[in-house]
Amino acid sequence: MLSSWPKQWQSSFTNVDDLLKYLELSRLDLPILTDFTQFPFKVPRPFVDRMKKGDPNDPLLLQVLPITAELLENPGFSKNPLQEDTVNPVSGLLHKYSSRVLLTLSGSCAINCRYCFRRHFPYEDNNPGTKGWESIFDYLREHSEVNEVILSGGDPLSTNDAVLKRFIQRLERLESVQYLRFHTRFPIVIPDRVTEDLLLMLDDTRFRVSMVLHTNHVNEWDESLRAPMRALHDANVTLLNQSVLLGGINNSVSALSDLSYRLYDLGVLPYYLHLLDKVAGASHFDVSADEAVILMRGLIERLPGYLVPRLVREVPGCGSKVPIDLFCARIMTK
Ligand code: SF4
Repeated sequence: MLSSWPKQWQSSFTNVDDLLKYLELSRLDLPILTDFTQFPFKVPRPFVDRMKKGDPNDPLLLQVLPITAELLENPGFSKNPLQEDTVNPVSGLLHKYSSRVLLTLSGSCAINCRYCFRRHFPYEDNNPGTKGWESIFDYLREHSEVNEVILSGGDPLSTNDAVLKRFIQRLERLESVQYLRFHTRFPIVIPDRVTEDLLLMLDDTRFRVSMVLHTNHVNEWDESLRAPMRALHDANVTLLNQSVLLGGINNSVSALSDLSYRLYDLGVLPYYLHLLDKVAGASHFDVSADEAVILMRGLIERLPGYLVPRLVREVPGCGSKVPIDLFCARIMTK
């Protein structure tokens, strides 16, 4: 019998050598980084169990393994690529888009993804804790144009159900807020995070709830995810997926179309395909906008329209994600 999700999370692999041994690999197979204390290594066992043993190029392994390419210094890559400190009026609250705010209730994630654009984000200065909730609610009261609250991270589902329930119940008192969205990797990485209490909470709330899952490769979606996706759907949660276009992991038409079909099979619709945010330490994952456009054209030919994610990039200061024009004569690459 599986242990509870907190235990599975606590017993994540945090030592690279333990993971390599488990996967029947050695340090000779991969250029492992020696010092990654700034952005630790963490990967829970249910996710590891979807990796192929003996394969140093496994697309799930490459998302989480710290390698020496992280040391590359590339012009245009910085610690703060989205300049989120300029849209951070209250601790734990980012107001980038007019009708939506994003809350970073927790600085913890289910897993540490090496391409993460918030890998240098000062979560410790931006964790409101339960004491900071009132400042968030005050801000929302003063900004009645905000109709949607996005719980992001860190990962909002790293918060336990009791605390999450208290937060949602308080938020429900604000009439201007109608929509609640979770951006999370937890149900993928540790499917047991989809607890009965969470489902009841999501089904009971007056909010229209959506959950944007974050997966990048079809191999993340094994059969263990079918029941939790079904349960979320039955709790009236709209399920979407966003991916990051990652060199060496999903930058092919077949990888992206396989992912879209698998998502659909499990009741999830593709939402966004992001160009990599240019964060220091992740330049080896970068795929150019030109290549992305060519991939998207191939995807459009292969898939029905409802399975084609929108190719977007984030531009600091823009009031929305910026869609990439797939058919303009001259592609903007910079
Ligand atoms: S789950 Fe999201 S926020 Fe957390 S490390 Fe991965 S990409 Fe970053």
